[in-house]
Amino acid sequence: MKPSSINLVPDDLLASHKRKLYAEEIVSSEELQLIEKIKNLVSEKNISLISHYYTDNKIQKLTEEVNGCVSDSLQMAKFGKDSKSDILVVSGVKFMGETAKILSPNKKVYMPTLDATCSLDLGCPVNEFKKFCEHHPDREIVVYANTSAEVKAISDWVVTSSIALDVIDHLDSEGKKIIWGPDKHLGRYIQQKTKADMVLWDGACVVHEEFKHEGLKSLMQLHEDAKVLVHPESPHSVIDLADCVGSTSQIIDYANNSPARKFIVATDKGIFYQLIKNNPDKEFYEAPTAGDGATCNSCSRCPWMGMNSLENLYDAVSNQGNEINLEDEIIDKAQISLNRMVNF
Ligand code: SF4
Repeated sequence: MKPSSINLVPDDLLASHKRKLYAEEIVSSEELQLIEKIKNLVSEKNISLISHYYTDNKIQKLTEEVNGCVSDSLQMAKFGKDSKSDILVVSGVKFMGETAKILSPNKKVYMPTLDATCSLDLGCPVNEFKKFCEHHPDREIVVYANTSAEVKAISDWVVTSSIALDVIDHLDSEGKKIIWGPDKHLGRYIQQKTKADMVLWDGACVVHEEFKHEGLKSLMQLHEDAKVLVHPESPHSVIDLADCVGSTSQIIDYANNSPARKFIVATDKGIFYQLIKNNPDKEFYEAPTAGDGATCNSCSRCPWMGMNSLENLYDAVSNQGNEINLEDEIIDKAQISLNRMVNF
């Protein structure tokens, strides 16, 4: 008999997918000391901490405690731009630090590590993308924020997942044809929703691509009353099962405002910190990544987001290494496409 595409029995599913209360996670005395040191330095140097929802929950909590910003990449960009501080320390992946620098070129932008990248950024080298665009000179170039500063500099628009649908809808209503890069799953989702004329670059997120349709269906049968929240970087067969398809902020808003008590969530595990903190009386389950075609990336955890730690965050606020530096010409060009998004 052919094995079912997910081999977990119901009890295993329950045990492995129900998230523990991250907010109650134990912090060691060394970590507490480090947290205090970071807080003091942030206050002394008037640093703005900006962190993504996918970073470690200790980094998110610390960022909140110093009145920094924990959010999705669109809000991170806006917060950095509006911040009164001249020093921004961005925990996330490199394109987020670059975006902060492009929007605030006169500010110093540091990151815990410059090695934290993104499979979408890596999979869209500027020279190859440029050639792709040259084959379609009549199209507006719209790229996802998860791209290098150089790719943003040759694009007409930059969008995040929170406003991608609205921007493409707007461009489509003006009769424009579109080149979309780099995430093919998000591109396909937008194309399906808006019916816009789009050609898609072939990129994907290593984390979201691992969510599995069959496994999700099995978990939904166990929790028939659960709402399914899916990030649009996931495969379309997973998106098709969703009650809410949205960016990290939109997923959090949906869970906060929904009368439902149970949710199955298909995005990076880092988001559970906010979901559980905001909704302690609701239940959250991880969408399955195990099953046919599972790989070593099947942990719902971005390997690059995971490179941010309290230790290297301390280095960033104390020594101010890992500074983001970009050529003026790249900043000037990328500002045009990024500011279109910010002002949209
Ligand atoms: S989760 Fe995916 S899209 Fe986000 S930074 Fe990691 S690889 Fe990139």
